Amino acid sequence: MQRINDNEIKQIMSQVPLKELGKEAFKIKRELHPQKLTTFVVDRNINYTNICWVDCKFCAFKRELGDENEGYILSFEEIDKKIDELIAIGGTQILFQGGVHPKLKIEWYEDLVRHIAKKYPQITIHGFSAIEIDYIARISKISLQETLARLKEAGLSSIPGAGAEILSDRIRDLIAPKKLSADRWIEVHKTAHQLGIKSTATMMFGTLEDDNDIIEHWRRIRELQDETGGFRAFIMWSFQPDYTPLKKEFPHIQKASSNRYLQLLASSRIYLDNFPNIQSSWVTQGSHIGQLSLLFGANDLGSTMLEENVVAAAGAKNSMNQAEMIRLIKDIGEIPAKRDTAYRILEKFE
Ligand code: SF4
Repeated sequence: MQRINDNEIKQIMSQVPLKELGKEAFKIKRELHPQKLTTFVVDRNINYTNICWVDCKFCAFKRELGDENEGYILSFEEIDKKIDELIAIGGTQILFQGGVHPKLKIEWYEDLVRHIAKKYPQITIHGFSAIEIDYIARISKISLQETLARLKEAGLSSIPGAGAEILSDRIRDLIAPKKLSADRWIEVHKTAHQLGIKSTATMMFGTLEDDNDIIEHWRRIRELQDETGGFRAFIMWSFQPDYTPLKKEFPHIQKASSNRYLQLLASSRIYLDNFPNIQSSWVTQGSHIGQLSLLFGANDLGSTMLEENVVAAAGAKNSMNQAEMIRLIKDIGEIPAKRDTAYRILEKFE
């Protein structure tokens, strides 16, 4: 298939009816994944702290340092207990994400990762988004490269794409002015890829961006993927406005519609021709749109999410267990398959 350029995708997004867009995205998905497998991973989000200095305006999860009622850092024992529960249901991956705690340095993260890697060698540690890695490097006064190399050495396997939001500084300055720049997000992922650490790319839409900002985001991750091949998947979700400062500042912002989600999902499948996998975001969209997204380009249902705190704090309280995922996938005529972090198939449910 010929590569779609920015003008073409813009035209497609504004002119092609949703149903046709879906058909085209599904065709591309089928070419990439002819075995009709829809994958998922059994994992657990562990938000090791909710203390954070970054003040993203779309966040209802963070608490200030010194908040004695609601601020927390999980102890290693509490983290172990969560991993034990995950193992009991056949989980293979933990997704570690903060809060960007203003005081924790590289040694704390190394100890944590090493502790888990040693105690639970069967669990893959997928953790620390670009903003955390950037800050760990800065507060520890070491380079990005050293930060990532030390975390890898301790047992970190891959990093999530969180914190990308929209990779356009015009939008970042409005919704998360203290967060790292688009260039720096790219630099963190590029450095990780160069060190052999794979990652995912994400996008949060539905705040103040327009289609040009979204296309800029897609262009930047497609270019990096051309260069490094280090992204395993693209995952997109919509802004969840409840209880967020951004909603107070811009009351006109409404939760994105399911149509908009499916339109962007299908368009991303068409544009991101070098991404092997696109995940559905059933956590923000609900299980039925999650299922529909498999007809709009997604080939993976993401995680069963034993625990999710960040979007839940902003009002999205969807949940799904493995049995339900299997049922939804079979329902549209595909074969459910449990995968690991690297998208290797562990078990098929035919
Ligand atoms: S989204 Fe993450 S980085 Fe931003 S304020 Fe919330 S916890 Fe902090």
